[in-house]
Amino acid sequence: MTDPLSQEEFTSSLTRIVSHLQTRHSELSQLSILSSPTTISQSLSSLPTTLSSDGLGTSKTIQYLLSSLLPGILQAQNGPRYFGFVIGGVTPAAQLADILAGSHDENVQVAGSEETISTAVEQRALEMILDLVGIERSTFMGRTITTGATGSNVLGLACARDYLYAHSPHLPPNYSYAQDGPPSTPALPSPPIIILSLHPHFSIAKAASLVGIGSSSSIIHQMPALPDDELAFDLSALEARLKAEKEVGRGVIVVYGVGEVNTGAFGSGLAQVADLCKQYAAWLHVDAAFGGFAGLMPQLAHYTKDMDKADSLTLDGHKWLQVPYDCGLFYTRHVSFLTNIFQPPSASAPAYLAVNKSTLTGPTADEDESPFPEGTVRAQDVTSPLYVGIENSRRFRALPLIASLISLGKEGYREIITRNILFARRIATLISQSTEYELLNPTPPSSFPVSEGQQDKKKIEIPIIPSNIVLFRPTASSPFSPDDPTSSARLVMAINRTGKMYVSGTRWRGLGAVRIAVSNWRTGVEGEGDWEIVRDVLEKIGKGEEV
Ligand SMILES: *Cc1c(COP(=O)(O)O)cnc(C)c1O
Repeated sequence: MTDPLSQEEFTSSLTRIVSHLQTRHSELSQLSILSSPTTISQSLSSLPTTLSSDGLGTSKTIQYLLSSLLPGILQAQNGPRYFGFVIGGVTPAAQLADILAGSHDENVQVAGSEETISTAVEQRALEMILDLVGIERSTFMGRTITTGATGSNVLGLACARDYLYAHSPHLPPNYSYAQDGPPSTPALPSPPIIILSLHPHFSIAKAASLVGIGSSSSIIHQMPALPDDELAFDLSALEARLKAEKEVGRGVIVVYGVGEVNTGAFGSGLAQVADLCKQYAAWLHVDAAFGGFAGLMPQLAHYTKDMDKADSLTLDGHKWLQVPYDCGLFYTRHVSFLTNIFQPPSASAPAYLAVNKSTLTGPTADEDESPFPEGTVRAQDVTSPLYVGIENSRRFRALPLIASLISLGKEGYREIITRNILFARRIATLISQSTEYELLNPTPPSSFPVSEGQQDKKKIEIPIIPSNIVLFRPTASSPFSPDDPTSSARLVMAINRTGKMYVSGTRWRGLGAVRIAVSNWRTGVEGEGDWEIVRDVLEKIGKGEEV
């Protein structure tokens, strides 16, 4: 038996890990993104087949992870040329803080403010994110950190469900779905709640089926869009539908996406959609997982400026905010609908859960001198995350998040977002000028208002894609003939096999396509050669040459 308390073993393992992390930090951009198939299969066969009766001990285990297990996973998913999905990276401060969170292993749910400031840290991080995206803190007093945008969408739809049942003309006032479950009233329309959207992320369907709304096409409806913009609601069609549903007393959730995953596009008309929702008592859920941060680039600010009109808002921490998995952010203006779902009636709450049960308040009148903006939650008033989220126990997710925010500040984040978008535009320019590829998500430059104030600093490039995503497919001049339905998939494989950059495949308007999503803080950092590598790979693969 090895001694689990051995300081020596711990220290020598830690030293190994530190050196591993140092090497990764300095060499990440040169690593092949994927391990070779041989390495992956060796790594897989190194996995113990059963749990042995005696353990290996800390030192040998860490050695095993470093030498055999980790070589079998993605080597540089957080590197600068991993362009799959919208992955993001991890900032140095966030990475190191995450290690500390693991070391302290605090369960943030149950301790009172006199014992730990972790819940206050979580609130402040959530407030700082509102500062970052330019939303007043007092707008969204219901807030929590989730596992990701999917988790946040679950919370949003759960709150919407309870709000709509509570306001149903067919039910007693303030009917609580969370407490009383599905009502059995023949008068209630079937289905009692529907979702109207344009191109909702797949996670909306997951969330809708999980919270009992349902996800079939008779519940989640694709609404008509404007003829020249498939992400902009046709407002008169939306109004007509909202009006008709109100007449029969059916609950409506409008899901508005800010930042579409295939194209990085935004649509327009969020403010008008919000007005209509208000007028017809529909719930507006805004899913801005990654796109919510695009507005940090002043040219795109008009797309995100009305997110504060949502009833509930989803943002992701682990995508463009560059904090480690897993971290999602959830906000709602209707605090009581959130707490009604998660807060047990106090009479039956175990005593230890009653800690921290004060209500959320802004600074009181006698705190007018407070340096904090309205909507700042005082440490002693923080609702336990237990009462506003799914988990009863969870890690200190706020630590890497606040570390990253503090380390970069608003300008640091603005710089990353801007650099990513400019890098994506550069790729889009290359794609649009090549004969081997066809750019699928060009944007007419006229749709970007360029105001006086934005003319300063650098020259504004002509925007040819909406934000940080380049969507394209191979043409007949490439070795990946578009007549073959697998051509895009084969192109994706050819690019990814180089190990130098990574893209993902998708379907776009019924056909295969390739996506490049630029969302890592390291991408295009001066002197790293990312642009040269990307250009070289795309040019050579497009011509069928070896890379
Ligand atoms: C990524 C994404 C999601 C899902 O987010 P996870 O963090 O992976 O759960 C939901 N909606 C949108 C718009 C997204 O981009």
